[in-house]
Amino acid sequence: MQEENEKDLTAYCGLYCADCIHFRNKHSELAGQLKESLEDADFQSYANVKSPFGSEFQHYDSFLIVLEALMNHSCSEGCRNSGGYSTEPCQIIPCCREKGYEGCWECGIFETCEKFESLKPRCGASVMHNLREIRENGFKGWSKLRKPIYNWQQA
Ligand code: SF4
Ligand code: SF4
Repeated sequence: MQEENEKDLTAYCGLYCADCIHFRNKHSELAGQLKESLEDADFQSYANVKSPFGSEFQHYDSFLIVLEALMNHSCSEGCRNSGGYSTEPCQIIPCCREKGYEGCWECGIFETCEKFESLKPRCGASVMHNLREIRENGFKGWSKLRKPIYNWQQA
């Protein structure tokens, strides 16, 4: 991998964007096709009628919320260049930029920084591993030593 690509795909927080479940994914496109197909069939009208046949469809509105989220959570470039795709603004990107850091690995307090709280439920282990890896061994080629991105993928 070229160093330039590695940097583009390394988020300020130390996550590797190519590992993210939303990055260039297939499911967003499929979700869009499914929504279109359901609209063509006017499935909403069918679901609106209470009936013993298909009582599960009483949850159709909730299903559409998830379906639209799947459609919208897609990105094709790393958050370093795109600015991130979270529904809530990322606090880490502006913090690094204001300080002139390439990433939080340059910051003396990343181990205790509160801005990582929102990442912990899904990516807590990989974020800290990656930041320590870059801080201790340098940036070049670091991604070969990264951990799987999600907590449930950890060995
Ligand atoms: S948007 Fe923020 S928290 Fe999300 S990957 Fe990029 S730097 Fe990390
Ligand atoms: S305070 Fe340091 S560790 Fe926290 S987001 Fe800003 S640069 Fe990253």
